Amino acid sequence: MAARSSKSTKNSLAFACDHNHDTCIEEALENARLVCEQSGERFTDLRMQVFELVWAGHKPVKAYDLLSELSAKRSGVAPATVYRTLDFLQAQGLVHKLESLNAYLGCSQPKQVHQGHFLICESCEEVRELESKAFNKSISEVEDKQDFQVKHMTVELFGLCAKCQGQNVDPTGNL
Ligand SMILES: [Zn+2]
Ligand SMILES: [Zn+2]
Ligand SMILES: [Zn+2]
Repeated sequence: MAARSSKSTKNSLAFACDHNHDTCIEEALENARLVCEQSGERFTDLRMQVFELVWAGHKPVKAYDLLSELSAKRSGVAPATVYRTLDFLQAQGLVHKLESLNAYLGCSQPKQVHQGHFLICESCEEVRELESKAFNKSISEVEDKQDFQVKHMTVELFGLCAKCQGQNVDPTGNL
């Protein structure tokens, strides 16, 4: 397994939740490599760098922020290159696009076929993927009843994460 090309300097972006984000990125990179291998695609340096930047934290990242961070790592990066790479990663199911925020998020379950359902915290901007069988079931029911085939679906639920709800109670925020 290839070494990470660079150390993430954006620790402030890291998930505040109790997990080791370094391991989390390592696993995501390993998964991404496998996904590309299985679909006969190359996980090039550029693709890896963009993927890694998206995975810097569990917060959605805008394309132009990726562009400026990427420009610091390699010269001559055109916006079109970034968009093309993001399209590729999206097509492989490695990143999701959050339509309402026009931003990208790394997917933690790239090997499973799923639609994007997100819980977005309005306070800390952390985003979690929602996995709800009940929700998927109701969509299937709608498809049956309305005789409508859903091709694409983005569900974005805005609110407060557990941590930020706690901050209303504890003004120090040190939980
Ligand atoms: Zn993480
Ligand atoms: Zn996902
Ligand atoms: Zn939050």
